[in-house]
Amino acid sequence: MSSLQCYSTFKIDVSCAAITSFTDVASFLSLYDAKKLTYLLGGGSNSIFIEDFEGSILVNKIMGITHYDTPQNHHLRVGAGENWHELVTLCLQNKWYGMENLALIPGSVGACPIQNIGAYGCEVEKFIDSVECVLLETGEQVLLNNVDCQFGYRDSIFKHDLAGKVLITHVNFTLPKAYELETSYGELAQLDEPTPEKIYHKVIEVRQSKLPDPAQLGNAGSFFKNPVIDQAQFDAISENYASVPHFMVTDDREGRDERVKIPAAWLIDQAGFKGKTLNGVRCHPTQPLVLTNIGGASGADVLAMARDIVSSVKQKFGISLEAEVRLVGKTGLITL
Ligand SMILES: Cc1cc2nc3c(=O)[nH]c(=O)nc-3n(C[C@H](O)[C@H](O)[C@H](O)COP(=O)(O)OP(=O)(O)OC[C@H]3O[C@@H](n4cnc5c(N)ncnc54)[C@H](O)[C@@H]3O)c2cc1C
Repeated sequence: MSSLQCYSTFKIDVSCAAITSFTDVASFLSLYDAKKLTYLLGGGSNSIFIEDFEGSILVNKIMGITHYDTPQNHHLRVGAGENWHELVTLCLQNKWYGMENLALIPGSVGACPIQNIGAYGCEVEKFIDSVECVLLETGEQVLLNNVDCQFGYRDSIFKHDLAGKVLITHVNFTLPKAYELETSYGELAQLDEPTPEKIYHKVIEVRQSKLPDPAQLGNAGSFFKNPVIDQAQFDAISENYASVPHFMVTDDREGRDERVKIPAAWLIDQAGFKGKTLNGVRCHPTQPLVLTNIGGASGADVLAMARDIVSSVKQKFGISLEAEVRLVGKTGLITL
């Protein structure tokens, strides 16, 4: 058995049958066996291993970044094993601007399309031109363009029709030279004469002040997605909670517009969980959307805390919170 503790930023002390890395498609295909239980892993910052995993872990280390430019755009082809934040930093250093709002998000480039990573008013789908994949069943290499990826809020085809069916090998990005700065979000709106460099440094500063560093305190970032609800349900909530924070959204997967997104952190706080501890798991005091491993947390502790939050929020507001993190059990993904 191999220890998984260092392979997930939540750092639960569990193990699996074997852990192997691969650096190219050929070595992946020689390792992968569709008949055997396997979990593909990047940086492990969105995967919490709840108990011993009975199968093998294959860690994507496909590296390499190539760049060319056209009169309008910078184009990048990036290996899925590259580190996301290092890519954002490299782009900034080369004045290939646009992705600075997404600085300091942990994890690999290969995982970024899966949940369409986003922060500070920006989602990665805006820059993804196409995603190169290998179909696990046949070994065939396919290219999905931006529309094929069916991006949504923390969502994509990789969580639906293609869930567990592909290895992402490379992501192709297009960064327009006529970039637009995104400064509508919170602290960024206060920047004096904003530049991409100022946004990058401000995002890092704000993230470091609010979010626990996984190197110091095990966590997997936002544990839950921000729920999106109907206007009528929102109106009913705001009758009792006049100051409920909210944002109008129009890009819902089901094609309905005029829906309302409520910060899950606010709901969790209102339900009384901010700062609450259950054995080794704590609901983070400055950002209740994050659960942390304060030392020796077990998978059972994580599930108990998360399920308690879900049922309390449901009881108080009638809203069902969904996990943003991947919870991995003995034989694969488990739900709350
Ligand atoms: C402190 C902290 C802050 C965070 N902040 C944000 C944030 O602001 N915004 C945000 O969107 N997310 C955030 N996250 C979540 C996380 O960083 C992202 O989801 C990231 O994209 C996960 O990358 P990873 O390589 O670590 O994924 P992993 O946990 O390794 O994998 C995630 C999922 O993708 C699959 N997968 C990984 N690589 C591949 C591949 N090459 N091919 C096919 N499947 C693959 C895995 O099987 C798994 O199901 C945060 C996490 C932490 C710990």
